[in-house]
Amino acid sequence: MTDAAEQKMRFLYALRSKGVTDARVLSAMEKIDRGLFVRGLFAERAYEDMPLPISCGQTISQPSVVGLMTQALNVNTRDKVLEVGTGSGYQAAILSLLARRVYTVDRHRRLVREAQELFQQLDLVNITAMTADGSFGLPDQAPFDRIIVTAAAEDPPGPLLAQLKIGGIMVLPVGQSDAVQSLIKVTRTETGFEYEELRPVRFVPLVEGLGSE
Ligand code: SAH
Repeated sequence: MTDAAEQKMRFLYALRSKGVTDARVLSAMEKIDRGLFVRGLFAERAYEDMPLPISCGQTISQPSVVGLMTQALNVNTRDKVLEVGTGSGYQAAILSLLARRVYTVDRHRRLVREAQELFQQLDLVNITAMTADGSFGLPDQAPFDRIIVTAAAEDPPGPLLAQLKIGGIMVLPVGQSDAVQSLIKVTRTETGFEYEELRPVRFVPLVEGLGSE
């Protein structure tokens, strides 16, 4: 077996052993090469199950957490999805293979630009990436079937709850930014919202306003 093939096998094995069992999610994660989304010094660690630094002092999430969040989101091929926190673009690329349309926003212009280059390179034409403060959602494109937030707020932002369709699902980390946070799944019903706590996680904080670069 080549090194690359063995690396990929280990990568997928680590995902499964951490509870990522959904065949569609595993297949999307097999197709999208995480190595393209990690630049510079840390590129050689791209296939390890750990978060890694990216531009603008942010991080690309741990692959097993990406897998578990994607799995909890239960995306259908007809869904319009909003991601808050584009970062490297890795999570959005995976979602783009599972959904009809993905909107992803980040407060850092530079991250959005770099992610857009990768989406083009990979011919992922159903992703729209924009610079915006995602805590306000994307009112022009709302409502969404699915919303995923990859930065931690103390509580689910009101505008995001409001932009979720009835029957829609939102997955996000909540809690203080310097402590362990909880990954939660919010389902919008006819009458309100149902909350389910999934597991402890640690994300960078959801920050107000646009970034400086
Ligand atoms: N999903 C990413 C990882 C995201 S890291 C990936 O797959 O690589 C969290 C990201 O959230 C950072 O890039 C940060 O800039 C962004 N972020 C933080 N607060 C935000 C806000 N209010 N609006 C939009 N993006 C925000």
